[in-house]
Amino acid sequence: MIMVRIGGSSVTFKPVRLTIWNEFIRERQDPNVTKIYPNGIHAALANGLAPYGFEIRTATMDQPEYGLSNEVLDQTDVLIWWGHLAHEQIPDETVNRLQTRVLQGMGLIVLHSGHRSKIFKRLMGTTCELKWRKAAERERLWVVNPAHPITEGIGEYFVVQPDEAFGEFFDIPAPDDLIFISWFQGGEVFRSGCAYYRGLGKIFYFRPGHEEYPTYYNKTVLRVIANAVRWAATGHGAEPQNINQPPLEKFINANGQTIG
Ligand code: ZN
Repeated sequence: MIMVRIGGSSVTFKPVRLTIWNEFIRERQDPNVTKIYPNGIHAALANGLAPYGFEIRTATMDQPEYGLSNEVLDQTDVLIWWGHLAHEQIPDETVNRLQTRVLQGMGLIVLHSGHRSKIFKRLMGTTCELKWRKAAERERLWVVNPAHPITEGIGEYFVVQPDEAFGEFFDIPAPDDLIFISWFQGGEVFRSGCAYYRGLGKIFYFRPGHEEYPTYYNKTVLRVIANAVRWAATGHGAEPQNINQPPLEKFINANGQTIG
């Protein structure tokens, strides 16, 4: 909790409560992946994001209620999602709760293969399918919206090497803010950083992070994710009231009646 004085009154800034969710399967099954992420991708992200001052917790699919109980979500301002093999194991009831939370204002950062998660597809309303190739190639991510806070400190572009390649067509709705476009050595391009507003919630899809490569130790990748967490945690306006709205001003209608 940080307290500052502004114009004689005190304003309190609470640290962002970040939950890093990971299915945590391949890191425990495949020795090549275990070598890179011995304690799981969630632990590597928690370590890498620790300097940014978030209140971090991790959650994994083997925990009660898939790590996504209401108690956990009650203490989550922003949820990071990494999943690949087990998308279909998340029950629709959980997806319904997550969707409601996002519409009510919880931030959601969907990483890499999370493009096929139920929650991302639900929020997008499309298949979210794409092309892919595992060839340990170079990816260059170009900033295409330098006014956006997610690009702070990133420069004009940055390189991730090696990583899996993704290619268009990426079946998503046109992003509300398109922030990064990737180029890959093999020739593809890809919309790698896509921001959306859904209800009161902010969503960011960020492409890098195949589990067979050490992408989540890359300081620039971590900076983008930290920027995205801050952006997704920013406040929002009043919850809209969906009511039969009485007039706010008195007026005479087309029938000559005074209304209000
Ligand atoms: Zn992958």
